[in-house]
Amino acid sequence: MDTYKIACRECARAGESCCFDPRILPTMDEVDQLTAAGHKDFLTAYVYKGEGSWADKWDQAMVVEVDEKNYELCVRRGSEGSCVFLVSGKGCTLGDKRLRLCKVFPMWVSRGIMLIDSEFPSCRLKKMSMSRILQEINETPQSIIEYCEKIIEDGLQYKKERTILVKQLVDAGQITH
Ligand code: SF4
Ligand code: SF4
Repeated sequence: MDTYKIACRECARAGESCCFDPRILPTMDEVDQLTAAGHKDFLTAYVYKGEGSWADKWDQAMVVEVDEKNYELCVRRGSEGSCVFLVSGKGCTLGDKRLRLCKVFPMWVSRGIMLIDSEFPSCRLKKMSMSRILQEINETPQSIIEYCEKIIEDGLQYKKERTILVKQLVDAGQITH
């Protein structure tokens, strides 16, 4: 079932969504799933600039070092400056297969506390109460906490694999600043 949130459909179609964030980080499982589904060239090496004060553990897990520079393995941006899976006027072409990160946004956990992310003030979901947002995105406080813990584990567990992919992207010049 496509659980793409109503607010997100409107927001993404209008071209003002979180899909314009350059830091859309997939888990390695998601990289494998998207690759197996036939998607190609959807990754980039994002030059990490230390913007992660909002979730230190996430950054420690996800940032990899290649040639003495820090990067994150992110979904590439398309010609319109948004995530390559976003199509103007339509929204996310992955639909219900979009990244888990996208499904939980704008909810997040920082230093053990569940909160509404401070980026994208125009996010339509943020006009709702926290309980209403959780209802809208079909999540619970526990599922958000579990996801945030899982993605940190993923970053630590697959740091070597991420580093290899980032190195390939850097060598190919597929770098995003
Ligand atoms: S989470 Fe917010 S900013 Fe992102 S697409 Fe949905 S409504 Fe828009
Ligand atoms: S995967 Fe879909 S929802 Fe996530 S950033 Fe890309 S276009 Fe937006």
